[in-house]
Amino acid sequence: MEAIRALRREEFVPTDQKEYAEEDRPLPIGRGQTISQPYIVAYMSAALQAGPGMKVLEIGTGSGYQAAVLARLGAEVYSVERIGGLAESAGRRLQALGYERIEVRHGDGARGWPEKAPFERIIVTAALRREPEALFGQLSAPGRMIYPLGGRRMQRLVLVERKSSGSYRRQDLLPVRFVPFREGTA
Ligand code: SAH
Repeated sequence: MEAIRALRREEFVPTDQKEYAEEDRPLPIGRGQTISQPYIVAYMSAALQAGPGMKVLEIGTGSGYQAAVLARLGAEVYSVERIGGLAESAGRRLQALGYERIEVRHGDGARGWPEKAPFERIIVTAALRREPEALFGQLSAPGRMIYPLGGRRMQRLVLVERKSSGSYRRQDLLPVRFVPFREGTA
């Protein structure tokens, strides 16, 4: 909650959305994409238990808001965005705001970020239709990963805990609605 409170969400939305920035709902950020609802950002960040010094992979940079929350929790964030224009504007925004521990890359998140793997935490902020196989391979043991999984209109938020032994524990947390995860870049 402190990390959320310290952020000004209006700095992450387009000019015509600024008047709604304090509302607890998703908002359009262009290219058919959205900045997530603050409650969901807080919920996912808490479930992930991202903390100081951890390497975190985010798939779906969007506005950069979720990445900024993770950075404020002390994490070193690597974020991948498939839409070039959004990757560029989020990267510029985060740099202007002084976030030095966030790296944004334009690319297809389906492949993760192999050069920077492994990650202690992985968060996917677009709705997956099936299990993110490649990302499991980039998760540390112990590690935690959270992602929305399901159909187009509704998904379940899934939390996977990987123990040091390498075994997995999987939990369904709550129903959510995210914009779709799409393969390839744009
Ligand atoms: N975390 C963002 C919310 C992003 S909305 C925020 O805090 O603002 C989901 C984002 O995932 C969109 O920007 C969409 O373009 C992106 N996305 C969808 N499929 C992707 C993929 N295969 N790789 C990377 N990003 C993807």
